[in-house]
Amino acid sequence: MCLFCKIVAGEIPSTKVYEDETVLAFRDIAPQAPTHILVIPKAHIASVADVTAENSAVVAHVFEVIAKVAAAEGLTDGYRVVSNCGDHAGQTVHHLHFHILGGRQLNLEMA
Ligand code: 5GP
Ligand code: ZN
Repeated sequence: MCLFCKIVAGEIPSTKVYEDETVLAFRDIAPQAPTHILVIPKAHIASVADVTAENSAVVAHVFEVIAKVAAAEGLTDGYRVVSNCGDHAGQTVHHLHFHILGGRQLNLEMA
């Protein structure tokens, strides 16, 4: 099981900020901004490159959750959504996840 599948299963603890049947949002263990949350589908999808017609409904739902979580966190001045895909992007956990970064002015790099 991958790291984030273990977080979904509760085998590794996380600070959850939102959960429903198909999506989980939790705080990044090494925050790069005052608010740094990861939003993931509970089902294992390795990366953006593995999104298909068959599994994309959960990705649409992930984006509904991103909007809801960002509002709940009070990110009224804006925020960034990032998904690293593959080696050149520096993806380290191969379970699809979207970073929500906010709470400060972000530079033109990822955070
Ligand atoms: P990536 O580099 O793949 O886009 O992002 C992986 C993210 O997962 C990193 O920002 C890293 O800090 C975070 N991360 C890695 N291990 C854990 C963990 O065990 N718990 C939490 N909450 N975040 C983690
Ligand atoms: Zn996984």
